[in-house]
Amino acid sequence: MDYQGILNEIKVNVDCTKLPGEVASYIPELAKISPDKFGMHLYSVIGEEFCFGESQERFSIQSISKVLSLSLALLYEGENVWKRVGVEPSGDPFNSLVQLEYENGIPRNPLINSGALVICDILVSHLENPKAEYLQFVRKIAQNDQIDFDEKVAESEKAEGHHNRAMINLIKAYGNIKNDVEEVLDFYFYTCSVQMSCKELARTFVLYANHGCLIETGEQILSVKRTKRINALMQTCGFYDEAGEFSFRVGLPGKSGVGGGIVAVYPNMYSVAVWSPKLNEKGNSTAGMLALELLTNITGSSIF
Ligand code: GLN
Repeated sequence: MDYQGILNEIKVNVDCTKLPGEVASYIPELAKISPDKFGMHLYSVIGEEFCFGESQERFSIQSISKVLSLSLALLYEGENVWKRVGVEPSGDPFNSLVQLEYENGIPRNPLINSGALVICDILVSHLENPKAEYLQFVRKIAQNDQIDFDEKVAESEKAEGHHNRAMINLIKAYGNIKNDVEEVLDFYFYTCSVQMSCKELARTFVLYANHGCLIETGEQILSVKRTKRINALMQTCGFYDEAGEFSFRVGLPGKSGVGGGIVAVYPNMYSVAVWSPKLNEKGNSTAGMLALELLTNITGSSIF
């Protein structure tokens, strides 16, 4: 497959400057990013790379980090994770509080904010130094020691994070947060602030296209069964109340973040990351969704 030719075609056909959308501004630090950034990077399971645009510029991965947090929590807590968080799509916005009250503080899934907060609580219970150990895990699967938090973004969100603060307090009231809420929130904001480029993101997520094995060494980081389940959750829950739309248009498991990044995984084939900061009303990158839709349309190949 001529992936570089296909990526070039996508670049020509997706003009992010003309597409609608707004850069996320509820995290003040993210509002400073230029809306016209655009990059894409595809990493195959045999280590080939194809890219265009600003694919090597770092951005805030935001909710994409929820997949990494879940992966680490599964390593510590195993199947017990599913006693505290569900595996159903929410059909609600990423930061919605409504279901929590109906469902007694058990979040629908780990890829929405409420679920990720519970996952962070699990990690805070297990890790002696959560931020450092989280970063160590991410660096390992990224095979890159340069990956880091963006403290400015984390602190900016912490200062304005009233919605997440309300949410974690509500979950705590139902007994599904065991640690101090401020400690868990602080850790959550830092996980969201991890910075990666499309190249680094695609490189990190190739693990999920490769049945949980690092492609260089073959080391099994996640079991085949867990990798299958994480990909299934990305498919059904990775885009909040637009998960159906993403499945319909793109046909790959994926995860978005309000930094404008989207990563998608094609098991046995590749992982692909795209970045364009303008978001639609569901909080997903407009150009990113279109670019991935073109990728699976032009290649004529998706998991469906
Ligand atoms: N840190 C963001 C928040 O909690 C992540 C949301 C996202 O990327 N969808 O609101």
